[in-house]
Amino acid sequence: MTQIAEVIVDVPTMQTNRPFDYAIPASLTEQISPGMRVVVPFGKRQLQGFVVAITDQSSFEGTLKEIVSVVDLRPVLNHELLQLSQWLAQSTFAFWISCLQTMLPSVMKASYEKTVRLEPTADPKLATELFQGKQEIPFSEATSLTSAHKLLQLQKEQQVEIVYHVNNRAHKKMLKGLLPTKSAAECEALKANLTKSAKKQALLLTYLASVAGQTEAIAYQQVLAAAAVSRETLRTAAKKGWFKEVAIEQYRDPYAGHTVEHTKPRVLTAEQSAAVTQISQAVKASENEVYLVEGVTGSGKTEIYLQVIQDALKLGKTALMLVPEIALTPQMVNRVKGRFGERVAMLHSGLSTGERYDEWRRIERQEAQVVVGARSAVFAPLSHLGVIIMDEEHETSYKQDDMPRYNARDVVLWRAKYHNCPVILGSATPSLESRARAQKGVYHLIRLKHRVNDRPMPEVTVVDMKNELKKTTEGNFSELMLAQIRQRLIRHEQSVLMLNRRGFSSFVMCRDCGFVLKCPNCDISLTLHMDTHSMKCHYCGHEEAIPKVCANCHSHKIRYYGTGTQKVEAELKELLPTARILRMDVDTTRRKGAHEKILNQFGRHDADILLGTQMIAKGLDFPDVTLVGVLNADTALGLPDFRASERTFQLLTQVSGRAGRADKKGEVVVQTYNPEHYAIQLARHHDYEGFYKREMTLRHQGNYPPYYFTILLTASHEEENLAAKKIFQLMNQLKPVLSKEAIILGPTPRAIARVNRRYYYQMVIKYKNEPNLNAELTKIMQDNQETKKGIQISIDREPLSFI
Ligand code: ADP
Ligand code: ZN
Ligand code: ZN
Repeated sequence: MTQIAEVIVDVPTMQTNRPFDYAIPASLTEQISPGMRVVVPFGKRQLQGFVVAITDQSSFEGTLKEIVSVVDLRPVLNHELLQLSQWLAQSTFAFWISCLQTMLPSVMKASYEKTVRLEPTADPKLATELFQGKQEIPFSEATSLTSAHKLLQLQKEQQVEIVYHVNNRAHKKMLKGLLPTKSAAECEALKANLTKSAKKQALLLTYLASVAGQTEAIAYQQVLAAAAVSRETLRTAAKKGWFKEVAIEQYRDPYAGHTVEHTKPRVLTAEQSAAVTQISQAVKASENEVYLVEGVTGSGKTEIYLQVIQDALKLGKTALMLVPEIALTPQMVNRVKGRFGERVAMLHSGLSTGERYDEWRRIERQEAQVVVGARSAVFAPLSHLGVIIMDEEHETSYKQDDMPRYNARDVVLWRAKYHNCPVILGSATPSLESRARAQKGVYHLIRLKHRVNDRPMPEVTVVDMKNELKKTTEGNFSELMLAQIRQRLIRHEQSVLMLNRRGFSSFVMCRDCGFVLKCPNCDISLTLHMDTHSMKCHYCGHEEAIPKVCANCHSHKIRYYGTGTQKVEAELKELLPTARILRMDVDTTRRKGAHEKILNQFGRHDADILLGTQMIAKGLDFPDVTLVGVLNADTALGLPDFRASERTFQLLTQVSGRAGRADKKGEVVVQTYNPEHYAIQLARHHDYEGFYKREMTLRHQGNYPPYYFTILLTASHEEENLAAKKIFQLMNQLKPVLSKEAIILGPTPRAIARVNRRYYYQMVIKYKNEPNLNAELTKIMQDNQETKKGIQISIDREPLSFI
């Protein structure tokens, strides 16, 4: 009987959002299994697809087409991830193919070339027969000459290897280096023949003698330092043939050159110990429970995670730990690597595609048992999961903005259920959703009320900037803030200053007519980038030169509003000329490794002040930081979002937590125009529970989450009236399906109504229990997907941003 493969083809549309049946040709029987990618005929084209199931029956009435070839020798997604992809597609109204693709490292996506390479250990016959004298042949050629089954076997025997080619060679850095060719004796002989004045050459020969016989190339940089010679000496020597000049590919291991100090488990505090005991018990008993660890900043949550992970490893289980991208600081990486060393794999955007793929393979091959990563690491192919940890569980970066619009927290819960393992959600300021679930007893609440060693929480002073304005003219610093910083300078302690990024503060405005340069495609002003000397649109990527003349009135009086932090840095330098300042924002951290470099400098006391945007609020742990200053606490409060207070409270709490973490007492100064606002007052008193109660009351009154679920529907089109018409039509379609309890907000144009030449209209549905809603939304997705130019609909379940 013919075997049939159910395949999800790589066409992201609703019409193709279901498995298609294909016959498995005789040449491929017993070789194809679910989770493998294959090439299939589709219409007039050939496409890639994922095999999601194998059956022996098809409801298709015509003759089934056959699978053309295989893309993989083994499944790239296991049973769990296949199931997860289906659930993800349904629950987020996404295309199944998008979900499957999301789970794989990008290097495995279709556009990358793949080859089969002959390994040195291979049978010589293979070299002539299959490879025809070549070292490497295209994968498709290999599979046409031999069976996938045979190749897989060869790969297992380490005779061949499958290689993915990352085509971004431009990113590869080649270094000049040398390969020793002369023996030590030859070097000495050459040295004996040198004139007395050739001191540098003598030094080089001494060095070459010391590395004689080495078979690995040595970078020039290293030679220059070790031999104390100049590049000129090296050039001359190369011409004389004292060594062989070679190009060395710079190693892209992000942690190369780091020696991570090995750390031992600490003796736990009473609160930590109780938490670890309770959770590790659940790990051991394979209990699918969720623990919400609500611990003040500095209460030692990370140590709890590490010890639970250790307990899981002892049982032969694995662990997944998610942290927000922004908190994935070298400090965090070192803490985990320091404890578990080689058993840790890292997955985050700081890695190149090649590095990510290597880490992914280490996980898949079960060489790494602990995975630490940002959002997409939630799909890491770990088996035998013993515990999943989500640090800073309230973070909005866990939610993906594009299809599939998933929240990693939901995926965590799904996977934990599949593996029957516990989940730790950790935060000093849990999301109201999670905290409310703990209230109801759905989650276990573990509270850590004290900092490690009973260090006091920092004292927070709120400065009313309305009064300051009367005193000074335009400055960003209150008298108190300045006095506090000065004091730290005298005491040789450090300060962390946060400037809430104002969104679009860096723009260009005409002082004569007030004209602001806008993006021609989007409804938003262009952002000034001093580093590239250009104006850029953050939404569509449009870029143009910085104008010298106003486009509106031709005035030359153009004013540049540089990035907030740049401006504040300049101001600070003027006020405190002796202070050494490090700036950390999008501009100074654009280059790879820059983030880490700045933090290392600060850690080494190369600076007194670290001035930055929100990115400095999380995860930093420096013992000498005794002052945290928030220059503008209000930015987030002004946003038209019901979570504005929650965000403000979270941010202030997080950033305050950077102060006084070691034995020196910490202080926090918060500048605001709304000193009486409850989010600011409660953050001042480190009162999360108080905030939770207050905010829950407001959410209840306003019918907002967690009392209601929310869905955001968006329609977009190049023509404004068509987008508007569509959203009203959708509202009319949904109304009869919804109960009286459901509330519809809008439709309205989106806050930034035009992006990339498309107009956006949106509506929000708030609901408690709507049995027919899902089906209707799925239908909307199916009915409305048109070509790229036409109407586009997106559905976002539990959106975290309404702007
Ligand atoms: P949190 O994540 O809750 O803010 P951390 O895990 O960063 O707290 O811990 C705060 C500081 O206390 C860190 O410097 C950490 O190394 C230290 N620490 C944690 N647990 C202990 C312990 N049991 N004994 C001593 N120091 C600890
Ligand atoms: Zn003008
Ligand atoms: Zn734009």
